[in-house]
Amino acid sequence: MKIRIDEIIDQPKLLVFEELAESFPTLQELTDAGECEFLRPIAAELSVWREYDHIRVQGSLATTVRVNCSRCLSGFDSDLRSAFTMIYLKRKQELQDEDEVELGEEDLVSVVYEGDEIDFAPEIAEQVIMELPLKPLCRENCLGLCATCGTDLNAGECGCERGSFNIKFAALKNLKVEK
Ligand SMILES: [Zn+2]
Ligand SMILES: [Zn+2]
Repeated sequence: MKIRIDEIIDQPKLLVFEELAESFPTLQELTDAGECEFLRPIAAELSVWREYDHIRVQGSLATTVRVNCSRCLSGFDSDLRSAFTMIYLKRKQELQDEDEVELGEEDLVSVVYEGDEIDFAPEIAEQVIMELPLKPLCRENCLGLCATCGTDLNAGECGCERGSFNIKFAALKNLKVEK
C-alpha cells in the first residue's frame, strides 16, 4: 500500500488496494490474540493529492471479521467500513498556517512521512482497529448466557431463577421507598 512521492500531483489520484490482514503486523497480532478473525482481505480505496504543503488522502476501507459476542460468546460475522481523511506532512516541516490543518475536521489523521515514498499500511491497519467493536454484540438484544447454568438464553429459557435480577430490582424499589 505504497506510493512514490513524485507520483503525487495536484489532482487526486485513485489508488485501490486489497491486502490480506496477515500482511499487517498489528492486525496479525489481533488474530493471534484471538480478538477476531479476518474473513476477507482489507480493501482500501485512497484518493491522494498534493494540497498546500502537505499530501491529503481521502480514503475508505472495508473488510469482514468474525468476532465473538460479548454476551453469549457465539461467533458472528461483522462488516467493517470506515471513511477517513489523512494528512501527510514531511518530517521536520512545520505547518506555517494553522488554518490549513483544519483541526475541526472529523476523522482527520495527521501523519509525518519521510523518504521518497509513503506506506499507507500502518494507518490503514489503525483505521481497521478503530472500527472493531469493543463489546461485540451478535444482535442488539442478545440475551446472553444464563449465569447459573450457562445456557444460551437466545435459544430459550433454561428454567433457572433469575436471582440477581430480582435482587437488583428489590434494591431499586427500596431506594424509592426510602425517599
Ligand atoms: Zn450474543
Ligand atoms: Zn440457567
